[in-house]
Amino acid sequence: PFDVLIIGGGPAGASASIYASRKGIRTGIVAERFGGQVMDTLAIENFISVKATEGPQLVAALEEHVKDYDVDVMNLQRASKLRQKDKMITVELESGATLTSKSVIVATGARWRELGVPGEAEYRGHGVAYCPHCDGPLFKGKHVSVIGGGNSGVEAAIDLAGIVGHVTLLEYNDQLKADAVLQKKLHSLDNVTVLIGAQTREITGADNKVNGLNYEDRATGESHHLEVAGVFVQIGLLPNTDFLKDTLSLSKYGEIEIDAHGATSMPGVFAAGDVTTIPYKQIIMAMGEGARAALGAFDYLIRTDFD
Ligand code: FAD
Repeated sequence: PFDVLIIGGGPAGASASIYASRKGIRTGIVAERFGGQVMDTLAIENFISVKATEGPQLVAALEEHVKDYDVDVMNLQRASKLRQKDKMITVELESGATLTSKSVIVATGARWRELGVPGEAEYRGHGVAYCPHCDGPLFKGKHVSVIGGGNSGVEAAIDLAGIVGHVTLLEYNDQLKADAVLQKKLHSLDNVTVLIGAQTREITGADNKVNGLNYEDRATGESHHLEVAGVFVQIGLLPNTDFLKDTLSLSKYGEIEIDAHGATSMPGVFAAGDVTTIPYKQIIMAMGEGARAALGAFDYLIRTDFD
């Protein structure tokens, strides 16, 4: 059996594997796709000490670093069940195989909820963005839109208003859902327009770049075009925890609840990165959390009797 088995090969899982392996314990990673969300990222400018890089380049560096250690990497394998019996943890894979380990770190990440309209996939990374902390500065002085009037959408609009020229926020319902303090702040900004009852129908573009969006005014049924250089989709982040329901304690958003050591509600199971309740989902956070979960798991191993 493994001492530490990590589920997920994004920045959190990669970091956890290096920290665990450096303790001289048997470490494995099972990942559906090594690199995780970073594989889908074009420009990365906020990974501190690296001025600018691209996702696949950072993933290659991660892989090289992991390979430098004795980590058993099982790529293209999806975990479908996690169980515990007499302190040993079993992870079932979709392939039918089963792995056992004394401790497990869940680092399965999250994915942005997509609008599902024409143009979204086509212009992803070319004007269609999901993370204001990551991509906000790319739109300095320009007109952008934010889709979604919940807390994350309104926070994004307030954040972007300080960087870009103008922000138009579109909400599907006839009112914003964000907290009152955020709405008050939003309405105090003079370079923000709020459209309610607006259903985004299509993201338009030319020359491989977003140039606007089409939306329908749900009250009148009329179609409108808005010229924007960027569209920030803020309609939810979905943690990859479907296979853990009824196993670990999850928040109402489906995120794994962890303590200050990265421990979950099941002894010996730790979690790190976008899949957890820790706010501000970023690469640098995921790596830090992965390191913490590995050290938490190591602490657990040296304190637990397995015979
Ligand atoms: P992930 O990167 O999501 O990795 C999860 C891993 O788990 C993957 O290997 C996946 O295949 C695997 N997995 C999932 N389910 C299973 C399963 N059942 N069994 C086995 N494996 C599974 N952050 C920044 O800091 N700067 C940026 O510029 C930036 N830009 C971004 C741009 C885009 C388009 C996106 C989508 C995200 C961006 N982010 C950025 C956010 C950043 O990518 C995430 O915060 C970070 O990747 C989270 O790391 P993670 O390891 O927790 O999860």
